[in-house]
Amino acid sequence: MRYGLLVFDEPKRDTSRKIIHIDMDAFYASVAMRENPELRNKPVIIARHPRETGGRGVVATANYEARKFGIHSAMSAQKAFELCPHGRFVSPDFNLYRETSQKMHEIFKRYTDKIQPLSLDEAYLDVTENKLSQKSATILAERIRKDIKNELRITCSAGVSYNKFLAKLASDYNKPDGITVLPPDQSHNFLMNLPIEKYHGVGEKTVDRMHDMGIFRGQDLYDKNELELAGQFGKMGHSLYRKVRGIDDSEVKNDREPKSVGKESTFSDNLKTENEVIQALRVLAGKVMTNLKRKQKHGKIVVLKIRYEDFETVTRRRSFPDYIKNENELFQIALSIWEEENTSEGIRLLGITVTGLESAVFETIPLPLWKDNYSERTIQTDDD
Ligand SMILES: [Mg+2]
Repeated sequence: MRYGLLVFDEPKRDTSRKIIHIDMDAFYASVAMRENPELRNKPVIIARHPRETGGRGVVATANYEARKFGIHSAMSAQKAFELCPHGRFVSPDFNLYRETSQKMHEIFKRYTDKIQPLSLDEAYLDVTENKLSQKSATILAERIRKDIKNELRITCSAGVSYNKFLAKLASDYNKPDGITVLPPDQSHNFLMNLPIEKYHGVGEKTVDRMHDMGIFRGQDLYDKNELELAGQFGKMGHSLYRKVRGIDDSEVKNDREPKSVGKESTFSDNLKTENEVIQALRVLAGKVMTNLKRKQKHGKIVVLKIRYEDFETVTRRRSFPDYIKNENELFQIALSIWEEENTSEGIRLLGITVTGLESAVFETIPLPLWKDNYSERTIQTDDD
């Protein structure tokens, strides 16, 4: 039976996927407490002490003790100090955070390769297909949380559902150290009751406008038609219309897999002496190695690019039987390639690239046999 010419198809939910969102709890502060147990149960504020900065500086994060005083991230450190003068200020240590984040990813990779990091302390995992052939995403999420707690000695929260939007809402629901599962038959109720400011992607200004429209909870949003939402909020209106119906088909986008990692420098004054070239190559080798480590990659092929003062550009490539181990080895290789060029012409540009990359995570990395956990497992392929 036909009701008319205009038929709006109600969008369909795809509930076939299993998505986990993992979010570390007060990440920087948790790492600080792990490194210095004396900080436990004290208000910890990740920022330089305003005394050291003359009152400047901003809070990167604060632990849950400090949050009881009303301290939150992006607040000025001075304000935090006024709210909680006995709070412990700890300067951020991004190397440590990165290292911890990398270990977190090693844990994820035991379960799936479909990982989309959002920041150092947050990631989506698609576990529809997973390395344990485990059908329950909830069991996997609990295992991941346990691994993180045991090996990294910090806690995280997990959200489990059939799409990214719901998984992220869920992980936020039971923080800290919690898990929330939103199966397809429960997500609708959850969304209807959720205050509009909790909808991920709805900023403060939008919240105000929604309140003006009488939208306070998911149900109010659900009751608006798509044209009205699109008229008010444009593209976001369309997207919210779908999200409030539990629809979000966006993929868990894998970490981009680099095939090569390189760095080049153009010099404002052409390099004329061997010393200048040596220095430049050292810097480049260092940067490339740092980048490789960060991406957890290694390779056996080195490419050196040289542009001379007459703009002639040459690239020279060398393959090796073994992976390049460290910065110094990479530097020595680049230097030897340059020496073979045997020229005294001025140099405008130098570049070093390591290519043919493979994951450094699952290679033959020695496992310490005297340890029965994984926490000592290292992904770094160099010897420092
Ligand atoms: Mg977090």
